[in-house]
Amino acid sequence: KEEDNKTVLKAVQREAPADTGKPLLTVESVERTFQVGGQPLHVLKSINMELKHGQLVMLRGRSGSGKTTLLNLIGGLDQPSKGHIFFQDKPFHKMSDDQRTTVRRKQMGFIFQAFALMPLLSAYENVELSLRMAGIPGSEWKERIVHCMELVGLSKRMHHRPFELSGGEQQRVAIAKAIAHRPRLLLADEPTAELDSQMSAQIMSVFQNIIATEQVTICMTTHDPTILEVADHVYEMVDGKFI
Ligand code: ADP
Repeated sequence: KEEDNKTVLKAVQREAPADTGKPLLTVESVERTFQVGGQPLHVLKSINMELKHGQLVMLRGRSGSGKTTLLNLIGGLDQPSKGHIFFQDKPFHKMSDDQRTTVRRKQMGFIFQAFALMPLLSAYENVELSLRMAGIPGSEWKERIVHCMELVGLSKRMHHRPFELSGGEQQRVAIAKAIAHRPRLLLADEPTAELDSQMSAQIMSVFQNIIATEQVTICMTTHDPTILEVADHVYEMVDGKFI
């Protein structure tokens, strides 16, 4: 806990980007239909939403309600069957696959329920690997890794390997990995699902810290009602629709 508090104090305050008042991402009348056994399965129905700069937005709903499908569309990992998604005013559907991949690699970070760390690499090396994959010059790695480890409160454990860390600490390494290349949008699919309530609360406080210091927008899915109070906006999803 002491380390968490220091994290907040030590975090480097960056200059805020000019607030144009425009949303970072807009979802317009989006539908997603899958073909299952020759029948259409309407998983998302007429979804409209906005992600504003510096917000923590949650998609809440039961398992199977369509949260992950929507998160995948927002992250450009999948395409809507109908409707459009705009990232920084640019329509995903008018981009080539290569352009969308570039937007994703440079401007987005992803966090998953299972922490997705390389087991034989230390926390430091895990973050280093993601910087290498994002094409960040090697001369910047050390400063960025040390900064991210401070942000997530793991400065004292950065040379530990995943099996030497608790579940909450492993998820914090995963967060450091996801933000090290300084994305504008962080997408997290059930990031607290594997964690107890205390560790979940720590993850949410790390998210708040990241928003305050890195000017990032976070969109996450959850079915945990206890963490909703820290959200700026909650979209409740039932059967592929917002209620
Ligand atoms: P949640 O994240 O809320 O648990 P999902 O978005 O994972 O929900 O899934 C919503 C529904 O869409 C489920 O019924 C799931 O089986 C179905 N679904 C998701 N992806 C596919 C796919 N690629 N093909 C067919 N059905 C899918």
